[in-house]
Amino acid sequence: MILPILGLLVLLWMFLTYKARMRTRNCRWREDRSRDTAEGRYFVCMSCGVQTFRPDNLPPPVCLKPQSEPRR
Ligand SMILES: [Zn+2]
Repeated sequence: MILPILGLLVLLWMFLTYKARMRTRNCRWREDRSRDTAEGRYFVCMSCGVQTFRPDNLPPPVCLKPQSEPRR
């Protein structure tokens, strides 16, 4: 009777990774060259409002918003 439990765990893992991907995809970075500093190009996330500076002038690949829910 361990197979159904394993199947449930795999399904749960797939669900969690799917949710993480969706959260990253919803992150839309917008650059504002008028607010550039010596640290790099100014980027602001349109979905969560996080602001960051990137020396390579490229938007961050993931959302930098701190996760509020604790990791389990
Ligand atoms: Zn974001």
